[in-house]
Amino acid sequence: MHNKTIAELSAGLKSGEFSSVELTQSYLDRINSLDKQINSFITVTPDLALEQAKQADEQRAAGNVGILNGIPLAQKDIFCTKDVKTSCGSKMLDPFISPYNATTINKFNDTGAVMLGKTNMDEFAMGSSNETSWYGPVKNPWQQESVPGGSSGGSAAAVAARLAPAATGTDTGGSIRQPASFCGITGLKPTYGRVSRYGMIAFASSLDQAGPMTRTAEDAALMLNVMAGLDPRDSTSVDEPVPDYTASLNDSMAGLKIGLPKEYFSEGLDDAVAKVIESAVKEYEKMGAVIKEISLPTSNLAVPTYYIIAPSECSSNLSRMDGVRYGYRCDDPEDLNDLYIRSRGEGFGAEVKRRILVGTYALSEGFYDAYYVKAQKTRRLITNDFNQAFADVDVIMGPAAPSTAFKIGELTDDPITMYLSDIYTIAVNLAGLPGMSVPAGFVNDMPVGLQLIGKHFAESKLLNIAHQFQQATDWHTQAPAAFK
Ligand code: GLN
Repeated sequence: MHNKTIAELSAGLKSGEFSSVELTQSYLDRINSLDKQINSFITVTPDLALEQAKQADEQRAAGNVGILNGIPLAQKDIFCTKDVKTSCGSKMLDPFISPYNATTINKFNDTGAVMLGKTNMDEFAMGSSNETSWYGPVKNPWQQESVPGGSSGGSAAAVAARLAPAATGTDTGGSIRQPASFCGITGLKPTYGRVSRYGMIAFASSLDQAGPMTRTAEDAALMLNVMAGLDPRDSTSVDEPVPDYTASLNDSMAGLKIGLPKEYFSEGLDDAVAKVIESAVKEYEKMGAVIKEISLPTSNLAVPTYYIIAPSECSSNLSRMDGVRYGYRCDDPEDLNDLYIRSRGEGFGAEVKRRILVGTYALSEGFYDAYYVKAQKTRRLITNDFNQAFADVDVIMGPAAPSTAFKIGELTDDPITMYLSDIYTIAVNLAGLPGMSVPAGFVNDMPVGLQLIGKHFAESKLLNIAHQFQQATDWHTQAPAAFK
């Protein structure tokens, strides 16, 4: 059962081959026996899951239900879940039981999906390796000495290890696509504003976006059908019609214009990864696509721009975690200042503190114009580059990450190299575009993801392009040996 996709599981539920209670129990059993190896969940919610599964079975017996009815899912621990711990991977929020659900969670509940639990993640989604989680690192199911990527590493690892058929992730600078690439699964970061951010703990509000992490593009389409749409509770969600994302999965690739940015295939890209990406592109040529070399001249500005904007926004967003309003409070504070200083000092980890310091500095009087305003200007240039490129091509392709998963501990003392692992994903967030990572091959038995970047609101197109690749290849069906 655990090797089936959402589409297949949904068919099994429909035909009565198994019930949601049986399906949910089988995933809970797998989590129980296997997750010790990879630490992909922070919280497992068996009672809630079985209750939801029972309700889903009843709804199905009573009449028409949606495709996700009765399907068990894992939710990144960044989404507020009513009466369930919502930690965001931080000691700061370890005691936090949310009094309400994020819109995304409500939407899954409304369609009758089942929540298996909350997945591990880098603290406040800051990281590329899942090593900044207060709950310990997640291990890559393909090779447990390696990282799963981050920050949605728990979700990626859980899906790759077949502990859940699919999961949610969030992507501020690559946190869906890079772990999807490292774990050999399919991940979609939608256009900024496509999915509500209400109840999704904010890291960098102008960049954060939630999306599906699945084994197939078809499953990602099914998840996005539920997640997408205007939310009156999120003023940045966009009033754009939500198509049926499965409707165009089978459109032909003939004549598709693919742009390959020369900057994505230069220095810094692992040679073996480059070969995998090149052969993936050849696959599209066989299907009738046309390849064009393009240039995104501001590519080298993306990482420095992001590392001003994201820390600035996080320094502001995280100021609410002060030991008074949320979460962790230090013992025996002497006075108010001591309470603030020690609650934040003890509650946040090193990477979060580094970002708060950088962001506070960049926003402070005297430096604001030199850093923050400058970064906003380069952000505009980066967006212009993409707009210009999309005048000639339908989709941009390249690697999702410069290498396969690195080893746990390998980059912990080298934040700059760690930051560079998002070099191909970050610009997409700065421009607000949709991006995907699709399994495209292996290097030394570790997965490699092909990145697809589309125009604003071109999720249907991306899913179509990914689905066609998955009809022609079987990389996405491979499972790590220990979790088959
Ligand atoms: N790795 C990047 C960072 O640490 C992106 C994280 C994310 O997308 N949430 O900021």
